[in-house]
Amino acid sequence: MFERPPSVTTLKARWIFPVDGPPLEDAVIAIQGEKILSLETGGGRANLDLGNVAILPGLVNAHTHLDLSGLRGRLPPKKPVTDWLRGVIQRRRSLSPLQAAAEIQAGLAECVRYGTTLVGDISGEGLSWPILAAAPLWSVVFYEILGLSRARARQALASAKDWLEAHRANARCRPGLSPHAPYSVRHSLFRAIAGLARHEKVPVAIHLAESREELELLQHHDGPFVPFLSDLGVWDPDGLAGEEEILRMYADRPNTLWIHTNYLDAGLPISPHGTVIYCPRTHAAFGHAPHPFRRFLDAGIRVALGTDSLASNPDLDVLSEARLVRQLHPDLPGHVLLRMATLAGAEALGYGAETGSLATGKSADLIVLPVDGSSPNDPHDFILSSSARVESVMWRGRWILGPLAP
Ligand SMILES: [Zn+2]
Repeated sequence: MFERPPSVTTLKARWIFPVDGPPLEDAVIAIQGEKILSLETGGGRANLDLGNVAILPGLVNAHTHLDLSGLRGRLPPKKPVTDWLRGVIQRRRSLSPLQAAAEIQAGLAECVRYGTTLVGDISGEGLSWPILAAAPLWSVVFYEILGLSRARARQALASAKDWLEAHRANARCRPGLSPHAPYSVRHSLFRAIAGLARHEKVPVAIHLAESREELELLQHHDGPFVPFLSDLGVWDPDGLAGEEEILRMYADRPNTLWIHTNYLDAGLPISPHGTVIYCPRTHAAFGHAPHPFRRFLDAGIRVALGTDSLASNPDLDVLSEARLVRQLHPDLPGHVLLRMATLAGAEALGYGAETGSLATGKSADLIVLPVDGSSPNDPHDFILSSSARVESVMWRGRWILGPLAP
């Protein structure tokens, strides 16, 4: 008996944005089973004419913390950043695992509602794994690793190894490691995690050069991080690694995500294997100096967008992040910005072969947005200079949101 191949569905839209090529007007995308079969322009016929809409790849949120989803609007960004971090830690400690799971579920639902089909989630104790492993989107769960003192570093490494051992990649969810930040991870732990990630071939996410206070700590062993770490009982200046040292440890890693890098010294190079993750609205909420992402783009370094968590962001909408960047940098080409919201994140998270662009053989992950009747010079304006909301979401060839979803 031969199995009958899955049937082909064709969708027509006024604009289709493949991302790895120029936008296509009056275009048809053909989908067979879970995969994209073809893309054609020129007004062909389709099973379903969606009319005046744009179709683009599902969005990629390269950096969030779903377990902080209960903090929306409750912890306004503060200076020094350590005062804000105290609030986050207090909240984390007050949550039971069940409450944390409920917050992760709520954050996940919000991601899907805004058209995210791939998420990189930093997860305390890896709690989001069972939820994301069953969710209607692709994901990387980055197990969060903290340990500045010698004793905590040893314990954290053992826990990370155990967690990786117990959580192997499945069809939609893959493990990653997140040695949290230079102020919370011992140099020997950074080094050990680099070795573990290399051995296990998993992606790594590290918060780096996020605040001026962090630089003050690393350069002078001074500033508000000293009382902050002392109050937590973990202050150990001998354990601190320098930024350059950390960058070097992970330079040969293919999937290292450098989160924020707001204040990274221009003389410190990011390896071309790595990706800078820019979280525009969180960056703006903390009132940081302008983000240096264009310096990285100019140097050929991949830059992808993230929302960061609801502790510092109003929602988990990647499109709103891109629209803020459009306002701040109107001269940045639309195709570059759209790539930052899709394919760049997919490549950073190790899913570049599966998703992030609309191409033959890739997963049929797409979103549908209404477009207005105007005729802008740059069709990217339909997406990036508009306030249109995502109407429908398809993941692996199935509608998961919108009027066509079951
Ligand atoms: Zn973060």
